Amino acid sequence: MTAADGTSRQDSTTRHDWTTDEILALHELPLLELVGRANAVHRRHHDPNAVQRASLLSIKTGGCPEDCAYCPQSAFHREVELSRDRLMDPDSVVALAATAKAAGAERFCMGAAWRQVRDGREFDAVLAMVRGVRALGMEACVTLGMLQPHQARRLAEAGLTAYNHNLDTSPEYYPSIITTRTYEDRLKTLATVRAEGIALCCGGIIGMGETARDRASMLQVLAGFAPHPESVPINALVPVPGTPLGKRRRIDPLELVRMVATARLTMPRSIVRLSAGRANLNREAQILCFVAGANSMFYGETLLITPNADTGEDAALLQALGARPGGDGARPAPPAHAEARAG
Ligand code: SF4
Repeated sequence: MTAADGTSRQDSTTRHDWTTDEILALHELPLLELVGRANAVHRRHHDPNAVQRASLLSIKTGGCPEDCAYCPQSAFHREVELSRDRLMDPDSVVALAATAKAAGAERFCMGAAWRQVRDGREFDAVLAMVRGVRALGMEACVTLGMLQPHQARRLAEAGLTAYNHNLDTSPEYYPSIITTRTYEDRLKTLATVRAEGIALCCGGIIGMGETARDRASMLQVLAGFAPHPESVPINALVPVPGTPLGKRRRIDPLELVRMVATARLTMPRSIVRLSAGRANLNREAQILCFVAGANSMFYGETLLITPNADTGEDAALLQALGARPGGDGARPAPPAHAEARAG
């Protein structure tokens, strides 16, 4: 996570030169070996009993001009039954953030189905939301699509903690998933965010038909960032009827465990977030993800517009774990260990 001055605290042994073959070799290790190694790295860099709870709200829903094959909010997927909602007003958003905080959330993430940020009344409203959430003492994250340097600066000035912009998948598989925005566009947006000292929240989705090499390739791009993204959401596809991926079978939960563990090994100090798809994991599979290095989960009964895990069950899970609140404050001082390597 990013320190108050916007710099990232990563120790000198953190690697940025992983090859896809090395990462694939880690990903393909026997599961118990992989989870064991990931857990050891996790414990060196994080409080193993801390799980940060984040809440995610769709502040503007549907009608998005992008064609992301997994997303029910795309205007391209006309068979999806989804009502389009205009941008919410800041007071309502901040009130929902306060409710999420009272339920235990430490981070409040806001998503707008836009291709890009446009200056004007709506962006001003988003800035007011960010200021309001920060005034509650919560971390604030937004995902608004592509943005310009002056817009990133205004978000930073409003106190934004992190900007979410996912890679989604590998550079090689990306054209099978999105055609309206290039991988280069994404990397440019991420560089714009970083240039203003805002933490990056950047991860991807598995279960879209990609290969294990694609998964390793996506992690290779993420781990190539210096510093690593402070936050790495790992999503499993939630197939939504009417989208091009609506008929895909849900992945085996152990594939998610593998992906979490490999992300932990390659990005030791990042917050790895169990994101979409968690509702389909039983309690034991979620616990295995936390053992493998996940240290955050999205809390609340919807995740943008798809169903999330039941909050009562989540509270029981966290209690059973004896989990403490997470986030940057839970991170111990950097150690002087070398990181895990493939082989
Ligand atoms: S840019 Fe975001 S909201 Fe728009 S279609 Fe893609 S994932 Fe959905």
